[in-house]
Amino acid sequence: MILILLGAPGSGKGTQAGRISDMRGIPHISTGDIFRKNVKEGTELGRKAKEYIDKGLLVPDKVTNGIVEDRMSKADCSKGFILDGYPRTTAQAEMLDSVLSRMGVKADAALNIKVPDADVIHRLSGRSVCRCGETYHVDYKTPKKKGICDKCGNKLYVRDDDKQETVRKRLKEYHEKTSPIIDYYRKAGILIDIDGIPLPDMVTESIVDVLKSLETL
Ligand SMILES: [Zn+2]
Repeated sequence: MILILLGAPGSGKGTQAGRISDMRGIPHISTGDIFRKNVKEGTELGRKAKEYIDKGLLVPDKVTNGIVEDRMSKADCSKGFILDGYPRTTAQAEMLDSVLSRMGVKADAALNIKVPDADVIHRLSGRSVCRCGETYHVDYKTPKKKGICDKCGNKLYVRDDDKQETVRKRLKEYHEKTSPIIDYYRKAGILIDIDGIPLPDMVTESIVDVLKSLETL
């Protein structure tokens, strides 16, 4: 099964993609994770990507397309995969279609996880992280000692792309560039809207229901 997950930054689509990936045993391809890994390792791609990500801008199509095509051609993708964070522009969506048709397959569904902007800003700007990988939030998960990680005792920090100004910029970018691909998949007849406001477990349930109904078609 080939799934495309759409949704603003902070919509929870990464979490949902991870869960579906585990349940279905198909890889979760997150362009954000691939970029962050490269930034951390200081690769050429990482340096290029960081310039854009830090400014709250999208990484250019040429860079992104190459990475995704390379990842989709790996053996573990033969039974399907979930794309998270890609495509983000109509040009990328068209590129994806042509790569998939070369592979002799097509996307089963584009799931659009919908969360209002105000909720996204609240979710993201309240988040802090630790170098060990733990994530905290002012409302949902506070550390026992303010600003200090429960797990390892290190100081928490706000990721550059979670700062409120950057979040607003990311949302603006998202709506400008991604809205057309929602129309693109709607026209293709594979777009399915998912309400992203409820708790993550409930969002997962509605996605599972959608996938079941797809299989019985
Ligand atoms: Zn920690």
